[in-house]
Amino acid sequence: MSCRVIVLLGPPGAGKGTQAKRLANKLDYAHVSTGDILRDAVRRDTELGKKVGQIMAAGELVPDQLMSQVVQESLSRQQSRGVILDGFPRTVNQADYLDQVLGNKKICAVNIEVEEEQLVKRLTGRRSCSGCGRIYNVFFSPPGREGICDQCGSPLIQRPDDRDEVVRERLRVYRNQTEPVIRYYQQQEAYSSLDGSREIDSVFGDLYRIVTNQACDQASPHP
Ligand code: AMP
Repeated sequence: MSCRVIVLLGPPGAGKGTQAKRLANKLDYAHVSTGDILRDAVRRDTELGKKVGQIMAAGELVPDQLMSQVVQESLSRQQSRGVILDGFPRTVNQADYLDQVLGNKKICAVNIEVEEEQLVKRLTGRRSCSGCGRIYNVFFSPPGREGICDQCGSPLIQRPDDRDEVVRERLRVYRNQTEPVIRYYQQQEAYSSLDGSREIDSVFGDLYRIVTNQACDQASPHP
């Protein structure tokens, strides 16, 4: 691994996935989402999927050892100039592990902050089209006809871990196990935070400025 690594931090529902995709496109970096990797394994019913399905449905964290393997495999396959990590690290152990894998290379970490009340609405209201994948929110951007995609007419579905009681558990797990990771990166040079409660474009503007500014850019390896 000789490429640059940007870590996006923030609670579930902060918009890490949305911002990571845009940033990866703009910088021509790879987007590594551990949640997406795990969901794909569950869908394909692989060995990994069998191990993590129930844990994810309950809103708990997959054990560190298993996650470290998943990330190590994914990073070792990357050929790009840079990687955006979305959803990893989620525990201090995982952050330690990442430091070990990357050697003395610095990481640029950006924390996307959103208040809990808004997170609950974003997550419990989120629906996706079972046909074309378009994302809706029943509170902020509902479809014209309830439960039906405006674009292709297919039924809308809810991620099992976006149900109310699971969302509350995910946020509890975040406070207990993932917030310490923010303190871990705060002690390092290339750490920033931004207000993720605004429009997607404004958040992206800030994020882009941060990752291309000097402190963060110096976290990239020099040839
Ligand atoms: P996400 O899509 O990032 O919200 O992740 C969905 C679920 O996948 C989480 O609630 C966890 O169960 C699991 N997961 C994803 N990334 C990690 C990680 N780094 N460590 C432990 N569990 C994870």
